[in-house]
Amino acid sequence: MEAEIIAVGTELLLGDILNTNAQFLARQLADLGITVLHQHVVGDNATRLEELVRAAKARSELLVFSGGLGPTADDLTKETVARCYRDTLRFDQEEMDKITAFFAKSGRTTPANNEKQAMVPVRGKKLPNRNGTAPGAWFEDEGRYAVLLPGPPHELIPLWKEQVLPLLQPLCSGVLHSLTLKVTGPGESHLEERVGHLFQSANPTAAIYAKTTECHIRITARAATPAGAEEMCRAKAQEFYDILGDCVYGEDDATLESVTVAALQQAGLSLTTAESCTGGLVARRVTDVPGASEVFGFGFVTYANEAKQQLLGVPGEVLKRHGALSPQTAAWMAAGARRVSGAGLSLALTGLAGPGGGTPEKPVGLVYLAAACRDTIFIRKLGLGGRSRETVRLRAAQNALDLARRLALGLPLPDDTQTVAAARLAEEMR
Ligand code: AMP
Ligand code: MG
Repeated sequence: MEAEIIAVGTELLLGDILNTNAQFLARQLADLGITVLHQHVVGDNATRLEELVRAAKARSELLVFSGGLGPTADDLTKETVARCYRDTLRFDQEEMDKITAFFAKSGRTTPANNEKQAMVPVRGKKLPNRNGTAPGAWFEDEGRYAVLLPGPPHELIPLWKEQVLPLLQPLCSGVLHSLTLKVTGPGESHLEERVGHLFQSANPTAAIYAKTTECHIRITARAATPAGAEEMCRAKAQEFYDILGDCVYGEDDATLESVTVAALQQAGLSLTTAESCTGGLVARRVTDVPGASEVFGFGFVTYANEAKQQLLGVPGEVLKRHGALSPQTAAWMAAGARRVSGAGLSLALTGLAGPGGGTPEKPVGLVYLAAACRDTIFIRKLGLGGRSRETVRLRAAQNALDLARRLALGLPLPDDTQTVAAARLAEEMR
């Protein structure tokens, strides 16, 4: 089935409000396997709306409208769409009683223009709105469907889920199942190179979404039964796992922090952090996970050199000789944080987030990440240049969490990881 989304409202055209309903509806339609051909925004103008509806109805089986169901004269969607779908409206006493009760609840009398909202389709269906006064509407004209929804998202979303989905599902052939693989490490173009050929299939479909710090691969299958669709998704996912292996850190709602916290818990490792350039981002993400207190007691934000010395015991000499932005400093930070906190694993980050301060030897985006775990210190040099301060910091934190995940799960570490025996820190990292 092919559909178009039509958001009605002059305030949208003026940029006064953001068209979040279109985003919600587009995702919902995609989940149903309905192809969205166009998204439109049209002002509160009956002539232009009618022109648009006629053209869209000729192209697409389903039109989904948001907004324009209000009580005022400029809210014309229902009348206009009814006409285009060869339907008319009638006054509905039940809806009117609800509207009156709604106003009475807040001690107000019902304005006369609200009667307009109690008008419902004669041939089509009314879609009662339990969160507002304007009911939605469903129109049908020889295999062409129109759904009208109120503009406020807190009304539109429940109405969609409770009333529109059950009407649409029987019109969609088969059932859909989706699965999202969460990938960290390789960037989008690198991923494309390795698994690009897997995106070519039509059922299941697979698509890649690049996020700031990771990529998501969404797999969707259509089949006669839910179990069948799920099985197809699983088989496709396996093809990705075969190539990407442990770069896939989780699926669906899993986050890198939730997976990392779970892995630490399983390994019986507690965690501490010593953050310079990330200013607490790693600790923040770890503590976003409910139950993080089982593995995380506290971390350090040591931005200034004095803080690195006083709180973590980084030798002044090391800072003087190599600077704060050095593998030596990162290693000492990790070792110090682990010693002071007594945690099983420490993560340390020191880097240059920019935008200023870069030199040819130490450019913006250069970050050293270190972890101290058991009797070893692991050090990575990250080149995150060419990005905003925000992105450098987010990516640095992402790499730190991934290192913790890999250490906790006993997974292979990136090839560039340098290791130093903790006992030899003073000799090797002077
Ligand atoms: P309306 O039903 O057009 O009178 O819209 C009522 C209210 O719903 C507006 O004032 C907005 O706050 C909200 N709204 C309308 N359309 C949208 C949209 N496309 N996306 C998000 N919010 C919207
Ligand atoms: Mg409006």
